[in-house]
Formats: sequence, structure tokens, C-alpha cells
Amino acid sequence: MNTVAQATAVRADSPESRHYNRVKRWLGVADFGVGLTLLIVLLATGWTGALRDIAYRTASQNYSYAVFLYVLMLVVISKLLGLPFEYYGFQLEHHYHLSNQKLRSWLWDEFKSFLIGLILATVIVELLYMLMRREPQHWWLIAWGVFLGLFVLLAQLAPVVLFPIFYKFEPLDNEELRRRLIVLSERAGTRVRGVYKWHLSEKSKKANAALTGLGATRRIILADTLLDHYSDDEIEAVLAHELGHHVHRHILKSIFVQAAITLFGFYLANEVLLYAIERFNMFDTMSDFANLPLLILVSSVLSFLLMPALHAYSRFNERQADRYCFQSVASVEPFISAMTKLAEQNLAEKTPSRWVEWFFHSHPAIAKRVAAAEAWAKAH
Ligand SMILES: [Zn+2]
Repeated sequence: MNTVAQATAVRADSPESRHYNRVKRWLGVADFGVGLTLLIVLLATGWTGALRDIAYRTASQNYSYAVFLYVLMLVVISKLLGLPFEYYGFQLEHHYHLSNQKLRSWLWDEFKSFLIGLILATVIVELLYMLMRREPQHWWLIAWGVFLGLFVLLAQLAPVVLFPIFYKFEPLDNEELRRRLIVLSERAGTRVRGVYKWHLSEKSKKANAALTGLGATRRIILADTLLDHYSDDEIEAVLAHELGHHVHRHILKSIFVQAAITLFGFYLANEVLLYAIERFNMFDTMSDFANLPLLILVSSVLSFLLMPALHAYSRFNERQADRYCFQSVASVEPFISAMTKLAEQNLAEKTPSRWVEWFFHSHPAIAKRVAAAEAWAKAH
């Protein structure tokens, strides 16, 4: 905790920030809890079997079509159950003056994300059960290989296909910033394909930046809310941080980590399914798609248990990117002022409690990041 105490420049969090973040966390937990309850209820009551029978009858016994109908019903039910939480989240953003989005635009986004979710779920589930039918012994290993390909494809397509469904992007037209990025990149001996202006202000008052994509689609995106209200020095510090992610190959490393977890997840899912079939007679065969809630339950519980570890790994990467930034820019002052402004603008907690940071935060607390910058400046 002494790092927080050292950060004299950081003011204490406001009651608004505390409340906003607490409610947001509880919304997330409640949403997750309801999803988990749905899965358990479907399995415990046997309703999943009833849904499968409806799907089969409607599909006139066509397996693939029945799988699709089952997925459709499951996605619709979970969307309806999750909608109240998402609506409350939308209201919360407005209550704290963090959102510019009108209800119509929000509903349209909800619809689009529902469709994308349905398409992805259909592709994945059809693939899984096709493999289970053809390779009941090794389906999980083959599925893992297919998933790996899908991860890489999605990472590549996200900035050019997925993000533009929700936001407008255009190449950054600020010559001074482009020049500074080229200097930073040359010093790093690397090249980022592009920097894009992200039109976030149409929906949000918050500011953000990120490194996205893979290979030819790799790019830094900077929110217009950042570009319009931060000095060139501050934006350069943010750019240097994102370049740090690039230099340390964080996207690729995260894919490897995901790959290892997914391999274990598929192995575990196979074991649990076998156990449910042999010990409990819950399902006739592996490819009885009424067992889908059990598969999702295994992956949800695994993700939940691994969340602190994954967040710790992410915070490690963020500290690495921060250190890269300190080395690359002339002074840490713009980094410190950018972080402080970001926290104020996004109503982020600069000093969350230790367990909140441990469990929920993918980034180190702002107070710690500022303290690390000050310590770095003192040591160099
Ligand atoms: Zn970062």
C-alpha cells in the first residue's frame, strides 16, 4: 500500500466514482449470476431436454437445423434475462453524465450485438456438435485446433469488420501526432500500420485508446474524446504506452495464454460430459445437444475461477507497456497528467480496494501507475 501513499499527486476518489464503480461491479456480478442460474435450472429441471425436443420437432428431425433452433432459443432466453441489467447499465452511464447515446441508438446496438452473438454461437456450436458426432473420442482436441484458428481470425478481423459495426473510424489526420508516432516507432525499431481516430464521442463522454488487430490489421486507435481534449505531449504518452503493447507482442502472447486455457477447458468439458453420461445418465450420447448448458457451465465456471489470474497477467502487461512509455518519452509528466485526466473523465477509481483490483481490474490502479511513473523519474 505504500505505493499509493507515495502518490501525492493523486487526489482521493470522489463518492460519485466510488458509487458508480460499485454499482457497475454489482451489475456485472448479478448478470453473471443470472446466466449461471439459467444454466443450472435448465440442467436440473430437464428443461434443456424439452427445448431439444421442440427444436427436433420443428426441424423435422434434421440435426443441424435442430442445433441452430436450440442455439436460437438459448441465445434469446439469455438475452431477455440479461437485458434488464444492460438497460440499468445504460441508465447508470447517463446518471453520471458519461454517455451521449440516445435510447434508439442503444437499442440498435443491442440488436446488432445480439445478431453477432447469434451468428458466432451458431458457427461454434454447429462445429462442436459436428465434431462430436464424427469424432466422439477426439472431438475436444480437434475443436481446440479449430478454436485457435478462430481466435487468430477474429483478432485479425475485429478492427476492420467487428468494431466498424458499432463505431466510425478514420485515419488520424493530425500531422504533428503522426510525426511523433513515426519517431517513437523508429526508436522502437518497429512499425505500426496505422493510427485511427475512433469516433467515440457519438456515444460516450469517456476517453480511451487501444492497440488492436493482428498482422496487416494491427493498428492503434485513439478516441476523438482523447484527441480533442488532451495535449500533444499527453497523447504521445498514450501512443507510447500502446506502442509498448506492440513491442512486447501482448496480443500474440494473450492468444497463446487463451490457447492453453482453452485446451484445458475442452479437456475438462469432455471429462465432465463423459461423467454426466456414464454416472448420471443425463444424456444419451455426447452429441445430444441438450448437454450444451453443461458445456457452457464448465467454461463459465473455469473463466470465473481464472479471472484473477488473467487480470494479474493483464496488469503485468500494462505495467510493461507503461515502463516502455517512460523510456520512450522525454518526461513522465504528460503520462501522469494524462492518467489523472483519464481517471476524472471516465470516473475511474484511482485507489480501488486491494481485492477489487485483484479480482476486477485488467489495469493497475491509476494511483499505482502514477506512483510508478514518479518512481521511474526519480531513479533516472
Ligand atoms: Zn494498455
